[in-house]
Amino acid sequence: MPELPEVETVKRTLEELIVGKRITNVLVKWPKIIKKPDDVEAFKMKVIGQTFKGVRRRGKFLKLILEDDVIVSHLRMEGKYKLTSIEEEFDHHTHVFFTFDDGTELRYHDVRKFGTMHLFPIGIEENELPLAQLGYEPFSDQFTPEVLQQGFKKTSRKVKTVLLDQTIVVGLGNIYVDEALFKAGIHPERVTSTLKENEIEELHAEIVNTLKDAVNKGGSTIRSYVNSQGKVGTYQDSLYVYGRAGQECKRCNGELSKIVVGGRGTTFCPACQINE
Ligand code: ZN
Repeated sequence: MPELPEVETVKRTLEELIVGKRITNVLVKWPKIIKKPDDVEAFKMKVIGQTFKGVRRRGKFLKLILEDDVIVSHLRMEGKYKLTSIEEEFDHHTHVFFTFDDGTELRYHDVRKFGTMHLFPIGIEENELPLAQLGYEPFSDQFTPEVLQQGFKKTSRKVKTVLLDQTIVVGLGNIYVDEALFKAGIHPERVTSTLKENEIEELHAEIVNTLKDAVNKGGSTIRSYVNSQGKVGTYQDSLYVYGRAGQECKRCNGELSKIVVGGRGTTFCPACQINE
């Protein structure tokens, strides 16, 4: 599933590709992707005739900004956008088509069909689900060690589970949460209320640094992720733990272990990340 660095990369490439393009037609082959409005015809009626004005990111969501409305899009497992000529062939995994007045088309491709699109009048989207329940952006000034500490105090859940749920800070998924926890030397099953102030400060710094680093490298190309220009990211070469179970720890040369935390496969170093 694309996490913040991959979604940020898609955002940047999409911005170059679609801003200024006017929608002349919309085709939806898999209506369940359109979550709001309920009626796909209403979705089409609203967006046809509008021009894309920008692309933003909130957590792992894309905000495709039109003149009057905004499409809040989540790629979930396998969603991808591609700009093509209207003549180009497409396969049966291509579900939504935005045709432009210049002979090009933005296509949404999603093998698993788990992706979603919600349409809102511009300005209200942050107050409505799915965006309304999101925590702080990791690169914003508002995301501080104190915010993390406050959020952690309120719960007795495991640190990995809390970081994945997007309510304190957004953007982390299975890859970057394992990486940040390893770099901070924190066991993924630690109960958040037991974390000490210095550990939380370290974790805060590693969350921000890991995500920034990954954005700079265009994200990680794991499985099928590519950005909207078909380019791949290179952060997978910098990973310490994710996808490396059974291999040597890059810090202590011990063997990395794999466990399940909150239903998610989790790789960590039993020597560098002690569960105390
Ligand atoms: Zn180690």
